[in-house]
Amino acid sequence: MELRTQLLINGSWLSSASGETFPSINPGNREVIAEVARAGQEDIDRAVAAARAALDDRGWSEIGPPERGRILNRIAALIRQRKEELARIESLDCGKPISQARNDMEVAARYFEFYAGMADKIYGTTIPLPGRYLNYTLREPIGVTAHITPWNFPLQVASRGLAPALAAGNTVVLKPAEQTPLTALLLGEMALEAGLPCGVLNVVPGFGPDAGARLAAHPDINHITFTGSVETGQLIMKMAAQNIVPVTLELGGKSPNIVLADSDMEPALRGTMTAVFANAGQICSAGTRLVIDARIHDAFVKELARRTRSLRLGYGLDDPDLGPLISEEQQEKVKSYLQVGVEQGARVMAGGKVPDDAKLRQGFFVEPTLFDQVEPRMRIAQEEIFGPVLSILTFRDLDECLEIANGVSYGLVAGIWTRDIKKAHWLASQIKAGQIYINEYFAGGVETPFGGYKKSGFGREKGLEALVHYTQVKNVCVNLELEKD
Ligand code: NAP
Repeated sequence: MELRTQLLINGSWLSSASGETFPSINPGNREVIAEVARAGQEDIDRAVAAARAALDDRGWSEIGPPERGRILNRIAALIRQRKEELARIESLDCGKPISQARNDMEVAARYFEFYAGMADKIYGTTIPLPGRYLNYTLREPIGVTAHITPWNFPLQVASRGLAPALAAGNTVVLKPAEQTPLTALLLGEMALEAGLPCGVLNVVPGFGPDAGARLAAHPDINHITFTGSVETGQLIMKMAAQNIVPVTLELGGKSPNIVLADSDMEPALRGTMTAVFANAGQICSAGTRLVIDARIHDAFVKELARRTRSLRLGYGLDDPDLGPLISEEQQEKVKSYLQVGVEQGARVMAGGKVPDDAKLRQGFFVEPTLFDQVEPRMRIAQEEIFGPVLSILTFRDLDECLEIANGVSYGLVAGIWTRDIKKAHWLASQIKAGQIYINEYFAGGVETPFGGYKKSGFGREKGLEALVHYTQVKNVCVNLELEKD
């Protein structure tokens, strides 16, 4: 397994200006996987300068759109070619089960493929005006784009932002999360191999308050795509405001997974498990609140608890049901919510602690946990835990169901399980969230616009919608009135 551990700036692999490195560790056993160059402010400045030069002096956006598309297609092909190696590195770096890491690689490849196909379909419009005018719009690249990404889907989330930005003719500086920099660096390697010109993609791992803050506040960037917590998102907005730079914010969630009494039980049970326990619950769009009809509550929760207790924890490469959490800090955070849930009167139906197993205690594991008898006012019903913890809330009629579903400050996604098409669409129209899944959780793909209502953020990634953020519109109006002599 060949790792890249240096910064990628202007097509060259470099040590950081300070010479400093930081360890990337396996969260399953705390072993150091690699020492990675730590970008500081000077390195960020160099990366932004390289992205600017690649845009303005060497004209990445002027390479024809078909050629941009071909390069992105080659990146997709390289990701697929190296899928197993990349999945293993991702699994080691962030602890996720290898089968989920393989799926991430496939999705990353799909982003490049999808936006490769869009590179030559970014059109302006003509607009009819009264009188003899020709009025048209041009969709131009927005410029140098900054991408700051989290650790839960390292390559997938990076690809989600990079692929549309590059397809639209922008250049990129990517700061991956300090916990999981390894696949982002390999993406840089594959991009160069695919023929992406030097400086178009720069990858600079480093720490948030240092490298991340310098990038977000840099006066020479033109757009920020940030995926992470609400608190950091607020800081990013303030920094962007200094330079009047637009931001796309993909933040947290506390998404409801609604099960009506008439739903098909087996798919609803399976979907509920996936919604909350995939990636050990470290998913912004996880279905972390089961909102269930009182009439089926007892039978559904009993079976859910049985299945939850049978889940297998382990190292990512052994492909368990759940891997570890990303870090000790995250483990401590989740443990504190386990305590808060009990203190506020919720009932533990499964899990509720770190595992007893000595081997698992070397890593950052937490048992998959079900809390029943959760009230909407409780902190475990309101706050994002970002771990394998499900809060179960019960409703008696559709109005109460909706009130619970919308009764949080987040609005990222919602799941609805029912055979009644009218109820499904009524709920879909009333729920304040950016994506609604009906009779499947995580339904949709790279093609479907994704983003939040309320504190889950704004702007949309994925699908054609994302391209709006990576282009700016110029209107050109020509007076064609003939002066006849
Ligand atoms: P985070 O602490 O906000 O970090 C996200 C990124 O921001 C990391 O690269 C981090 O760098 C960087 N950062 C931290 N402080 C910064 C600062 N002052 N200035 C600039 N950059 C800074 O979030 P996280 O804990 O890694 O991720 C979990 C959160 O992300 C959850 O709330 C989750 O819901 C959200 N998330 C949302 C989506 C979505 O699509 N909506 C997807 C995934 C995750 P370091 O790594 O050095 O800290």
